[in-house]
Amino acid sequence: MATAVKNSSAVEVRQTTCFIGGKWVPSRSGKTFATINPATEEVISEVAEGDTADVDAAVEAARKALAGRWGSMDARDRGRLMYKLADLMEEELEELAALESLDNGKPIRDARAADVPLAIDCLRYYAGFADKIQGDTIPIRGNYFCYTRREPVGVVGQIIPWNFPMLMVAWKWGPALAAGCTIVMKPAEQTPLTCLRMARLAQKAGIPDGVINVVPGYGPTAGASIVRHPGVDKIAFTGEHTTAQTIMKDASQTLKRLTFELGGKSPNIIFSDANLDAAIAGAHFGLYFNQGQCCCAGSRVFVQESVHDQFMERIAQMNKARKLGNPLDPQTEQGPQVDQAQFDKIMHYIDIGKSEGANCVTGGKRYGDRGYFIEPTVFDGVTDDMAIARDEIFGPVMSVLKFKDVEEVIQRGNNTCYGLAAAVWTRDIGKAHHLAAKLRAGTVWVNCYDVFDAAAPFGGFKMSGIGRELGERGLDAYTESKTVTVALG
Ligand code: NDP
Repeated sequence: MATAVKNSSAVEVRQTTCFIGGKWVPSRSGKTFATINPATEEVISEVAEGDTADVDAAVEAARKALAGRWGSMDARDRGRLMYKLADLMEEELEELAALESLDNGKPIRDARAADVPLAIDCLRYYAGFADKIQGDTIPIRGNYFCYTRREPVGVVGQIIPWNFPMLMVAWKWGPALAAGCTIVMKPAEQTPLTCLRMARLAQKAGIPDGVINVVPGYGPTAGASIVRHPGVDKIAFTGEHTTAQTIMKDASQTLKRLTFELGGKSPNIIFSDANLDAAIAGAHFGLYFNQGQCCCAGSRVFVQESVHDQFMERIAQMNKARKLGNPLDPQTEQGPQVDQAQFDKIMHYIDIGKSEGANCVTGGKRYGDRGYFIEPTVFDGVTDDMAIARDEIFGPVMSVLKFKDVEEVIQRGNNTCYGLAAAVWTRDIGKAHHLAAKLRAGTVWVNCYDVFDAAAPFGGFKMSGIGRELGERGLDAYTESKTVTVALG
């Protein structure tokens, strides 16, 4: 294990190598890559850069663990180890929140209030399922006893993004461990640190060697090696849909099971009969939370004509009052974007919005001269054909579109290749349920936004994904069903 590195923020970085078969090891090539503090652009630490040879070793360790103690462990004991991991995370809540804030740039208040507690909750939720994954007895014709067993799918490759690094670890490890699978995970190159810390806590909790393996590195090398490896049975991926398309091609050789949680351009629809205070606060939170780096961000805000001017005035006021700055300061509401590439992408879209004729009401500029900060930006007068209304920007950029009536806004809300989330704000219960049924999205929030719970399934229609995470159904992708038929004659 690497010695603790003190950086200028005084948050300790302890784990920086690959974690394979219960051992902390440098990459086989000896290569490392820098993880950067997005608030200062300084190097936090060098991290092992895993590649094919490291993935091979990790898969071997995961297969061995599956055939070993983990594979034959009582389901209830698996659950107990998961509860223990969650307890250890709770003991280290402050440290985990600080590390997440340092590596990702998210405000520490968000990491404390959302990322760490939701990750703990998710692990506990699935820990409770470990001994409740059961099959059916089936009355078939003839003198037979027929039943199904639900068995672990095997070794799972899990590839995660940088926007909620620790939470994505919990969403992936939770159902995999409960089902009895073993894991080879690649965290995003931008944010490997909390995943490695969680691997250390899993080791401390007593999860056997080789059950969880972490190979930090780049997507086209370490990530693609996991996807192509014949010893990996399933891939769970969160990220961009174009990456998912590459993964699908690479996985076709071995016909791996695939689940994808991808991007969105979610419509957030505000009717004039809504509680406007709540709707405006919800629209603000639904877009600017996590610097706009949410797959389900409500980035197309449809506002009914009669309340449009009021909406714009209040959103502009909120944006001007928003406190940007050092993510480790508990008062900070908005930190930097995760890296230079995301900063450049977002600024490019802001330029496109201006050139397409949308009205940039607030923001549109870099904040400060160090770090990847972007002012909270809102565009008015956006039309459906503009790039800022069609593409996932993944930053603090809100597009406001006016609408007149219900059927029009349903048609326009659905006019996207994505289908991850949607929201409706109205006091009319009939209208709310009508829209909930008609909007083509995996999640519809009514008079709220970004309400997540480990028990509520999440995932996308259309190009926003395949399969669902969370909830009981989140276990489906981690189990194989086996039918056993016994002659009784
Ligand atoms: P990616 O989809 O490229 O990255 C997600 C993960 O996939 C990372 O761990 C990445 O590795 C890995 N990866 C990349 N290429 C491959 C490959 N060929 N095989 C296997 N794994 C691979 O997203 P980006 O981080 O590049 O962000 C780009 C855009 O994606 C954002 O602007 C946003 O629009 C969207 N996005 C959506 C997210 C969501 O939650 N739905 C989350 C993050 C981004 P590496 O570490 O090298 O990047």
